[in-house]
Amino acid sequence: APSLDVARLRDAFPILKRQVHGKTLVYLDNAATSQTPQPVIDVFDDYYRRYNANIHRGLHTLADEATAAFEGTRETVRGFLNAADARQIVFTRGTTEAINLVAQSWGRANLAPGDEVLVSMLEHHSNIVPWQLLAREIGFTLKVIPVDDDGALDLAAYAALVSERTRLVAVNHVSNAFGTVNPVAEMAATAHRVGARILVDGAQAVPHQPVDVQAIDADFYAFSGHKVYGPTGVGVLYGKRELLEAMPPWQGGGEMIATVSFSGSTFADIPHKFEAGTPAIAEVIALGRALEWVQGVGLAAIGQWEQALLAHATQGVRRIDGLRILGTAPGKAGVLSFVVDGAHSQDIGLLIDQLGVAIRTGHHCAQPLLHHFGVDATCRASFAAYNTLEEVDTFVAALERVIGMLR
Ligand code: PMP
Repeated sequence: APSLDVARLRDAFPILKRQVHGKTLVYLDNAATSQTPQPVIDVFDDYYRRYNANIHRGLHTLADEATAAFEGTRETVRGFLNAADARQIVFTRGTTEAINLVAQSWGRANLAPGDEVLVSMLEHHSNIVPWQLLAREIGFTLKVIPVDDDGALDLAAYAALVSERTRLVAVNHVSNAFGTVNPVAEMAATAHRVGARILVDGAQAVPHQPVDVQAIDADFYAFSGHKVYGPTGVGVLYGKRELLEAMPPWQGGGEMIATVSFSGSTFADIPHKFEAGTPAIAEVIALGRALEWVQGVGLAAIGQWEQALLAHATQGVRRIDGLRILGTAPGKAGVLSFVVDGAHSQDIGLLIDQLGVAIRTGHHCAQPLLHHFGVDATCRASFAAYNTLEEVDTFVAALERVIGMLR
C-alpha cells in the first residue's frame, strides 16, 4: 500500500480547508496548478520580513543572505533533477519561458532552412508555438509525431520521422491533456543516433515521478514551479553544459554580463548568461522549499498514490452512461480527461463548481490533440498527493448529478 499519510499531508495546505459555494473545496485541477503547502507560503513571509535584497550585487548582509538562498536553490534543483552541475540550472519564469529561451537562443544559432524539428501531437501550445514562430522566420520544417487511439505516441512513426535532417525533438514527458507518459529516454536515444537534440517539457512529469535528466540523457529539460507545489512566476531550464556554454544570450540586461562598454559587451558564464535582470528571488527560494517538501514526502509514493486515485476515479466514471475517456495509454499519470454525450464540458465545469468541485474544462492548451480526437474540449480531473479517495467519490457523485441536470 502507498506509504503516504494523506490526512497529515493535507494539513499543510490551508487552501484545502476553504469552502466554495458553501461546500468544502475538492480541488482536482492539479495539472493546471497545484496547491501550495505552508512551508512554501512561509518562505515569502520570511523573505520579505528578514532578507529582501537584490542578489549578486550588494555586499551587505541582506544581499548576501538572499544570494545564498537563491544560489542554494540552484543546488536543490540540481539534486532534484540529478543534473551533474548546478551551473546547468537556469531559472526562468516557467516552462513556457524555458522553451522560448531554447528556441530563441539555441534555435536561432542551430536551425537553418531544410532542417527539421519534431514535436508531438501531445504537445502543450507552449511547445508548439515557439517553434512555429521560429520556423516562420528561419524556414525549417516542423513535423508532428502522431499518437495512437490510446493517446500514446506512435514510436514506429517517430523512428521513421527521425532522419539526418532532424535537428531537434521537442516533446513532453507527460501530457497535460491525457496524462500519457512518453518514453523520453528511448526517444532521446533515437534522436541522438542522428545527432539531433532533445528538449523534454517536464511540466507534468516532475510532480509525479522522480526525474533523472542524466538517465534520460535529455539535452534540455524544462519545468514550472507552480505545478510542483511551488509558486507561480518561476521555472527551470536544465541544459547540457556544452550546449548552454555555446548558446548565445537571449535577453540582455543586468546580471547576464561580464563587462559592458559602448564598443561591446562580454557575457557572464552559465547560468547567469541566461538570467538577465532581477529574477523572482522569493519565488526561486520558495521553489527550492517546494522541491525539498516534495522530496520529503517522496515522489515515488506520490506517484503510487495518484495511481490509486486515478484507478478509483476511472472505475467511478466508467459507470456513467455515455461518458468517454480520452487518453487510455498504459501507465499514464493521474489525469482523467473525458467527454459526455449530451452534456457540454463547459456546462459540466460550471455546474460542478457549484458543488465545490474544481476540474478543468476546455482545450487544455492542446488544441491539435483534441481536434485529432474530434473534440473541442474535455473535462479533466487531475490528481495530486493531497487528494483522497473520498474526494474522488464526491467528484463522481457530483458529476453524476450534474450530468443528470444537463440531459
Ligand atoms: N507544458 C505542459 C505539459 C504543461 O502542462 C504546461 C502548463 N499547463 C506548460 C507546458 C506551460 O507551463 P507554464 O504555463 O507554467 O509556463
